[in-house]
Amino acid sequence: MAGEHTLPELDYSYDALEPFIDEQTMRLHHSKHHQGYVNGLNAAEKELAEARNNGDFGNIRHIERQLAFNGSGHFNHCLFWQNMTPADNYEDPSGDLLKQIKNDFGSFADFKAQFAAAAGGVEGSGWGFLAWQPGGEQLVTLAAENHQKQTQFTAVPILALDVWEHAYYLNYQNNRGEYIDQWWNIVDWNNVAENFARATDYEFELSK
Ligand code: MN
Repeated sequence: MAGEHTLPELDYSYDALEPFIDEQTMRLHHSKHHQGYVNGLNAAEKELAEARNNGDFGNIRHIERQLAFNGSGHFNHCLFWQNMTPADNYEDPSGDLLKQIKNDFGSFADFKAQFAAAAGGVEGSGWGFLAWQPGGEQLVTLAAENHQKQTQFTAVPILALDVWEHAYYLNYQNNRGEYIDQWWNIVDWNNVAENFARATDYEFELSK
C-alpha cells in the first residue's frame, strides 16, 4: 500500500554481528537511519497521491527524487540486513551460485577482490552490490552512489553492502577497506543463494 511501508524487524539481535559490526552501529543504523528512509518513502508516496487527487504535478520532479532516494534507501537496507548472519553461521557459497560466480568472475577470490574494490571505491556515500542481470544472463558488481545512482536497471541485487559512513564509522572510523575486509565474515551466502535462485527465475527477453 502506498505510504504504508514499515521498518522490518531483524532476525538477529543488534549485538549478534559483533565484533565485525558493533551493537551501537546496528542500533542506530536500523532504528534511526533505516527508519528515516521508510518515513521518507511514505511521505513521497503520500505526496504523489495528493498530486493525483489535486491534478497538480507541479512538484513531481522533487517527489520523484525523494521516491527514488528513499525507496532505494529502504529496500537496499532490507536486502543488506538479510544478507548478514552471525559469524558462527558462516558458510562459503556453493552449488549454482558458486558455479555462476566462477563463470562470471573467474573464482570466488577474484569476485571478492572486484566487489571489495568496487564498494571501497564509491565516491562518498553508497553501496556495493552483486546483482543478477537477466538481460545478459550474468552476475554483475555495481557500485552505487547514495542509494540509487549508477545502476543497470533490470538487474536484480542479491547481495548489498552499505558503505555509507553511518554503517561503519563508530568502529572503523575512516577505514572503509578494513570494514569491507571484516564484513565478509558475516555474509549469509545461503541467503544470497536463495536470492539468486529467485532472481534467475525471472527472464528478461531482449526482444519480443
Ligand atoms: Mn545505511
